[in-house]
Amino acid sequence: MNFEAHFQAALDGLKERGNYRVFAELQRRRGDYPHATRYLPDGSTQDVTVWCSNDYLGMGQHPDVLTAMHEELDRSGAGSGGTRNISGTMHVHRLLESELADLHGKEAALLFNSGYMSNWAALSTLASKIPGCVVFSDALNHASMIEGIRHSRAKFHVFKHNDVEDLDRLLSQYGPDVPKLVAFESVYSMDGDIAPIKEICDVADKHGAMTYIDEVHAVGMYGPRGGGVAEREGLMGRLTVIEGTLAKAYGVVGGYIAGSKALCDFVRSFASGFIFSTALPPAIAAGALASVKHLKESPFERKRQQERVQKVRAALRATGIPQMENPSHIIPVMVGDAKKAKMISDWLMEHHGIYVQPINYPTVPVGTERLRITPGPVHSDDDIDRLVKALSDIWGQCALHRVEAAA
Ligand SMILES: *Cc1c(COP(=O)(O)O)cnc(C)c1O
Repeated sequence: MNFEAHFQAALDGLKERGNYRVFAELQRRRGDYPHATRYLPDGSTQDVTVWCSNDYLGMGQHPDVLTAMHEELDRSGAGSGGTRNISGTMHVHRLLESELADLHGKEAALLFNSGYMSNWAALSTLASKIPGCVVFSDALNHASMIEGIRHSRAKFHVFKHNDVEDLDRLLSQYGPDVPKLVAFESVYSMDGDIAPIKEICDVADKHGAMTYIDEVHAVGMYGPRGGGVAEREGLMGRLTVIEGTLAKAYGVVGGYIAGSKALCDFVRSFASGFIFSTALPPAIAAGALASVKHLKESPFERKRQQERVQKVRAALRATGIPQMENPSHIIPVMVGDAKKAKMISDWLMEHHGIYVQPINYPTVPVGTERLRITPGPVHSDDDIDRLVKALSDIWGQCALHRVEAAA
């Protein structure tokens, strides 16, 4: 086989459909976020404003986080030196796990190297190591959850997105003796909608099912201490497992699950994705710990984020730029065409130094291509004015669909 020709043909296909991914090469500048330097292919640079980051609260630049990382680096050095089992468990890992257990009101927490790995490893372990377990997975669950469930080889059903009746119907097919696991998210990252957590827990309880919630797009941002939507709604105690990331609102990297002592110990003892991978560097764990601690105490970043989101939404509404309404901090600006979404994104970058990544298939369904805007406490009024004006310009130039302007 001509392997090179195969690779090239597959890539050409992506390009033809407008789905070829081009990465923007950035240099974040400490203290200056959301402003960054972009490196172009010809070696020149450009000043840009980042509008699509998942460092939702700017914690990746927070002085407490940076200080904790510097101090831990100077104290411990670079890496952890091993898997958790073989010399890699640092004191700071244990401190971070206690902090996360406390955040979610659980007995224990278990750290992973990423949120992806925590979902993949925890779900695949639970579903494969509970004999006869059947999994019920929301239709819009993240790839890391789907991969984990598939890898378990457990039987699984996909229920209609956020549809409690469909979930109930699927669960009803199984008797009370069949172990069941319901896996879903709180804030869905592409539409920004929020799951009916209480209703899902009610149905799961009725059928004696475990509940596993991914709060990756909510931890740090919702609830009085940043414990997520389940904390805000007083539901943390009803969830068997709460999964989160340290990479998005907490601004560093890493993932975790929180749950009972026995459950976390079970995953710790059986999950290959936990056992066979070198533990997070201590400086990373220290930065994440400082970030979680800070956001437990400080509502400032959360409040300011919500206020910035409302400001961007109002400005978009006033210019008739179509946005998907939702109750979260994520603003999907709908384009509906892969090539147009990419063209708008390129134009914003080239002419205005505004960086919003287009979101295309397979991340979202064909025909719902969009720009996903994530305002944060770091965006100034001036940043917002420039964003909305630039979007309005390109909407006019391309004769794109507008919705009726509302003040
Ligand atoms: C980003 C994401 C993850 C993975 O988390 P990382 O820490 O980035 O690996 C898991 N679930 C959802 C819903 C995500 O959006």
